[in-house]
Amino acid sequence: MTAPLIPYGRQAIEQEDIDAVVSVLRSDFLTQGPAVAQFERVLAEYCSARRAVAMNSATSALHIACLALGLGPGDWLWTTPNTFLASAYAGLFCGAEVDFVDIDLRTGNMSVDALAAKLEAAEQAGHLPKIVMPVHFSGLSCDMKGIRALGDRYGFRIVEDAAHAIGGTYLDGPVGDCRFSDVTVFSFHPVKVVTSAEGGAAMTNDDGLADRMCRLRSHGSTRDPALMQGEPDGPWDYQALEVGWNYRMTDVHAALGVSQMKRLDKYVSRRTQLADRYDRVLANSGLTLPARDASGKSAWHLYTVGWNEEASGISRREAFERLRESGIGVQVHYIPVHMQPLFQARGFRAGQFPNAEAHYARTLTLPLYATLTEDQQDTVVTRLNELLRR
Ligand SMILES: *Cc1c(COP(=O)(O)O)cnc(C)c1O
Repeated sequence: MTAPLIPYGRQAIEQEDIDAVVSVLRSDFLTQGPAVAQFERVLAEYCSARRAVAMNSATSALHIACLALGLGPGDWLWTTPNTFLASAYAGLFCGAEVDFVDIDLRTGNMSVDALAAKLEAAEQAGHLPKIVMPVHFSGLSCDMKGIRALGDRYGFRIVEDAAHAIGGTYLDGPVGDCRFSDVTVFSFHPVKVVTSAEGGAAMTNDDGLADRMCRLRSHGSTRDPALMQGEPDGPWDYQALEVGWNYRMTDVHAALGVSQMKRLDKYVSRRTQLADRYDRVLANSGLTLPARDASGKSAWHLYTVGWNEEASGISRREAFERLRESGIGVQVHYIPVHMQPLFQARGFRAGQFPNAEAHYARTLTLPLYATLTEDQQDTVVTRLNELLRR
């Protein structure tokens, strides 16, 4: 496998990360030992949340969060079409129905107006969602206050898919503090802001939910005598209380996560600096630049522009291909989930979520990561300008 010269995102691994991983390999526990507990403490402290439950991916954490909130057959989960498959899969994994709420074209985030309108119609039709899952696209928080107000009115629970947003803020608090939601999920995939190679975490302020998520990630079983039915058979006893999965994070991954968390703020400020620099040099390019919002600071997982076919004279597709040919690893986020064959087969149709489709038609993700140098960024801009000036 060969990576483009300048990929759209990549991890930053330093010697201290390598040392942290090696020390776990020499220790007594390779999985679910002290490093996982430490990673959970670090995450909870960073986010001012009561609990963090680490898992092997954000996909797993989204699934377990929905299960713990009681999502099942006959229930509905609503998310945004402008996301990765995993947000919608969380509902399908639980046997629930999935539907989407269109986005605000400016931010790429779930539109609160569209959500309000859809809830009103769903109330009439008698199938309100049990869970609404907003996604903080590119690292910029959704209007969580607005979504929470609707949650209070219509009685749904909220799971934030914050895979892009660790290190970001919303209304003067860290994303992940769950002030406006039941659970917030982070991803530690290598392209995200900090990495554990693979990994995810579910943040919550509800001890009951956290305990249930801990059980569900590990076969639904417990060794806690207080939870067991009857007297334990002996000190070896464990009991299966409900079906669970093996979604455990290993100590090897957690040690990498702990080490990376020490540099999270540094990484976010570097990403912010580079995003500001893109904004300055692309100000007159004719491209639509990413939205800013007074409600919070983006974690800048992605820097996405809107391609302007009229002004440049070439299509987004041609721009994508030419940039890739010259070693610039541009990407497209996201193919609207309802347009995927899996969801078309479930009855979704083109035209149902026009803003998500319009976003998809023009969006282009430029390289942005903590170790991107200004020289590399200048190369990206030079190649872009060559296309725009033709
Ligand atoms: C990356 C991502 C996920 C999945 O994260 P994994 O840790 O790879 O499972 C889920 N939702 C969004 C929005 C993502 O970007």
